[in-house]
Amino acid sequence: MFGLRLLYRFENGINVYFTNKDEGDARSLVSKGIAEAELTDKLGRQIRLVTAHQVHSEIVNIVDSRWAMAPDADLPDGDALVTRDDKLGLGILVADCAPVALVSDEGVFAAVHAGWQGVYKGILPQTVKVMRSLGATEISAYVAPSIKSECYEFRGEELQQMSQILGPSVVGQTSWATVSLDLLESIKQSLKTEAVTRIDASQDCTACGGDYFSYRARQSPERHLMVIVGGGGRR
Ligand SMILES: [Zn+2]
Repeated sequence: MFGLRLLYRFENGINVYFTNKDEGDARSLVSKGIAEAELTDKLGRQIRLVTAHQVHSEIVNIVDSRWAMAPDADLPDGDALVTRDDKLGLGILVADCAPVALVSDEGVFAAVHAGWQGVYKGILPQTVKVMRSLGATEISAYVAPSIKSECYEFRGEELQQMSQILGPSVVGQTSWATVSLDLLESIKQSLKTEAVTRIDASQDCTACGGDYFSYRARQSPERHLMVIVGGGGRR
């Protein structure tokens, strides 16, 4: 067992798990089936872990158990997974980009890879719309550890694009006093466009937090894994 930690529990009992750098590169934990075995053990029932072929897009895929059986190479591109199948775990691999978990009271849930490009292209509102098409009404969000404003120096031109779409509050400042992108604020503003306002977030910064891989700060090739599992869990 490698230690998928329970990171957050939604009010309806749906759990979010996360790895940190102690677990090494989570990609191999996924490909070797280790993460799936641990989820199954934690939940006390067979869980199939589904991941996305992430490409910084606004593409959302609705998944079911047939997806879970498909070889990785056959996964279509996309940066959000949506389901209402409580036998599935939805996984997102990241280092700095924000993994976002979304749940609705109707049991529809989603995992989103939200880097600035995906947020700019509208991956979050797109995911919410797909959740609603499956019956979701009120939706709550949780944002797992990601790079925070004080560490995320950003190019002026791209920052302007983000600020035009999501408002001036997404512009921040690094701890070394250059302009930065507040990715968490960008996510909040983007979700607000689809009336999602119940948003919780980890305050941990992957760049300076110590427990994490960071692509921006240390060019880490490794990734963390966030998993959201439907139907609640034991621990
Ligand atoms: Zn930081």
